[in-house]
Amino acid sequence: MAARPKRLSKSRFTAGLQCPRQLWWKVHEPRAPELRPDAGLEAIFDMGNRVGERARQEFPNATLIDLDYRDLQAAVDATRNAIAEGAPGILEASFLEDRIFVAVDALSKEGDGWVVTEVKATTKVKPQHIPDAAVQAHVVERAGLPVSRVELMHLNRAHRHPDQGPLFIRADITEAVAELRAGIADEAHTQLRMLEGPLPDVAPGPHCTSPYDCPFLARCNAPLPEHPIEDLHRIGARQLGELHDEGIETVGQIPSDFPLNGIQTRHRAAVLRNEMVVEPGLHTALAAYRYPIAMLDFETIAPALPQWDGCSPFGKVPVQFSVHTLSEDGEISRRAYLADGEGDPRPGVAEALVAALDGAATVLAWNAPFEKECLGILAEASPEQAAALLDARGKVEDLLPVVRNYLYHPEFRGSFSIKNVVPALLPAMAYDDLEVSDGQVASSLLEKVLCRPEELPAEQRAGLRGQLAAYCQHDTAVMVELYRFLQEVSAGRA
Ligand code: SF4
Repeated sequence: MAARPKRLSKSRFTAGLQCPRQLWWKVHEPRAPELRPDAGLEAIFDMGNRVGERARQEFPNATLIDLDYRDLQAAVDATRNAIAEGAPGILEASFLEDRIFVAVDALSKEGDGWVVTEVKATTKVKPQHIPDAAVQAHVVERAGLPVSRVELMHLNRAHRHPDQGPLFIRADITEAVAELRAGIADEAHTQLRMLEGPLPDVAPGPHCTSPYDCPFLARCNAPLPEHPIEDLHRIGARQLGELHDEGIETVGQIPSDFPLNGIQTRHRAAVLRNEMVVEPGLHTALAAYRYPIAMLDFETIAPALPQWDGCSPFGKVPVQFSVHTLSEDGEISRRAYLADGEGDPRPGVAEALVAALDGAATVLAWNAPFEKECLGILAEASPEQAAALLDARGKVEDLLPVVRNYLYHPEFRGSFSIKNVVPALLPAMAYDDLEVSDGQVASSLLEKVLCRPEELPAEQRAGLRGQLAAYCQHDTAVMVELYRFLQEVSAGRA
């Protein structure tokens, strides 16, 4: 039996714009392991679906084409019928023309023409949205419907829950789309012809990570050597180009007279000696902290659709913290909090945090701007606790720059993320044994547990809460050990 001719969709079309080779694999190997979404990507899809569903409420008179997504022809027929019956608007309006299928988020009648609205779970129009909308407008016109306007409907960062400002903004992108429209038919034809042939040759380049990371990076790129120059802290394109031109691939091969900044110089020295490099001054930097030292870590959620008073789309909401307090005699006490139940979590977090930080002379964090921001958010949302929270914010110190300025271990591999620093300096405290070991995953799980508990059976919810508590508490337990390790190093004992 002859193979069915390949088809394009808007996502296939935009993948083909990024790279024909990527599109070929996506179409010919749709079950490739690289295309299986991980937990992070699943969370992004879920969020997009929720925003899409909420956006439908902005089109109260529209007809929804809600059919089995595998039966494209049924969706196309239902759309045609809705138009024939005079529907003023259609949600998921489906068209198949010239072997390109599109389902338009919202198609609305306006005078003699139609408005194509594409909904995105973002807070602004991005360049990659334009071809996505352009291919839809092209197919709608090929189906015989004149398109008078193209809109990108995105979330409004200035909106404040519940009713301050509109939740969505409709940006008119007709002009930007028009510039691409003329080339859509040729591009689609080229892509469809390419798909009937063998895997195209495309050399890897900047297009592999722009506008999105290609899932097939590992197939096209040779593995990097141990300690590649790409790992050098804040390496610029010019520096990288100069080193590549000289045939230098690894940090250890960089000539001693090549201009490097302080951190890069330490990195090179650590790789060459294959040991940790420590600069003078570490002891003085640590001596600035006064006891008791409260090690603080927050976990936040950032729902696309805000739920509590004053929150904005994607606005951070601190919902969990852990504090390990270290006294001068070495005693450690521990406090932790994870919001529960319905309602605004911020007052509960704020109250528990003020109690947990009571008496602390120093509040120590890793990458402290985040903790300072969270303290500010809580202060704003909880006026009764504001004075104590702002006082705590004034005591926040950051351990990250201390490590960055005085220490380098070859296993940092170019990153001062706690997830790189801890396995290098405290291998016994690495995150490998935790069920939740990544901040992004923790955030999406927290959002699920707190904002959509009905989606989880009680037992699973309790299990997740336990994993999330362990993850957050591990972060501050790690800080205690890291602080002690640095003290030992500064005293010459490690
Ligand atoms: S890794 Fe680069 S060259 Fe390879 S398929 Fe992806 S985008 Fe194309």
